[in-house]
Amino acid sequence: MSKDFHDQGPRRVGQVKEVTSLANPIIKDIKALTNKKSREESGTFLAEGLKLVIDAIELGWTIRTLVYAKAAKGKPLVEQMAARTVAAGGLVLEVSEKVIASITRRDNPQMVVGIFDQRWKPLKDIRPKDGETWVALDRVRDPGNLGTIIRTADAAGASGVILVGEATDPFSLETVRATMGSVFAVPVARATPEEFIAWRKSAGVSIVATHLAGAVDYRTIDYRKKPVVLLMGNEQSGLPDQLAKEADALARIPQQGRADSLNLAIATAVMLFEARRHLLSLAEVK
Ligand code: SAM
Repeated sequence: MSKDFHDQGPRRVGQVKEVTSLANPIIKDIKALTNKKSREESGTFLAEGLKLVIDAIELGWTIRTLVYAKAAKGKPLVEQMAARTVAAGGLVLEVSEKVIASITRRDNPQMVVGIFDQRWKPLKDIRPKDGETWVALDRVRDPGNLGTIIRTADAAGASGVILVGEATDPFSLETVRATMGSVFAVPVARATPEEFIAWRKSAGVSIVATHLAGAVDYRTIDYRKKPVVLLMGNEQSGLPDQLAKEADALARIPQQGRADSLNLAIATAVMLFEARRHLLSLAEVK
């Protein structure tokens, strides 16, 4: 990381810096955020598009750098976000289209990109209340699946996502794209399997794990008794016994046809909306 990237110093506050060279060290540092190691070291990540940047700032995420293409200059919302970035002590870069395309690695790039601090929800702070649904993902590998699940969890009113074991990075460009902005709305925690098992013992939750060999049809489960954690297995190998045996119910989504399983994100969506249906029917009774 170049010194400039983190140490923005008072000199630059209130200024918009123009950059046209791909060799500029700040641009090199921003481009490096497509690598997990750089994201971990800096604790930051990239989000593309004006809508996402506005949503993130509105939701209180800390913006470090706002990058916009020259063509976006003067647009009122871009100017507003630039002012908010400067007010938060961040850096604003006005760049050529070639530079923004190289940051996002796209031919038709978004005109605006934001660099934000990552935010992880500490597992110990998750104390689910009645009526809440959480999703726990065992070693999720595919960034598109993780992004889709975060987006779906948001749409289904779930309270957050817990990544169990070695998982793909929720702050990668691909995952953030797939969340369509929900990465800013859905808390994400991480845990080893052992930490997750210890947490579930004290959290007072019901674990509904999904398994191709599940004994129970997912529609027959009562999702309303306690806060629910929907535990989903890895794309290739499914849930390991270590986690499956923690389940209060082992649920199966009955299938037809030749497919041996559903895609992980699809299975999670089916479960989330079933849990939601139960919770909504409880709200109607009350
Ligand atoms: N070969 C893997 C296996 O044997 O479990 C397939 C894993 S599947 C692609 C990924 C995850 O989605 C599973 O671990 C499970 O959590 C969930 N899943 C997919 N289809 C399901 C079904 N019909 N019933 C229950 N869970 C399912």
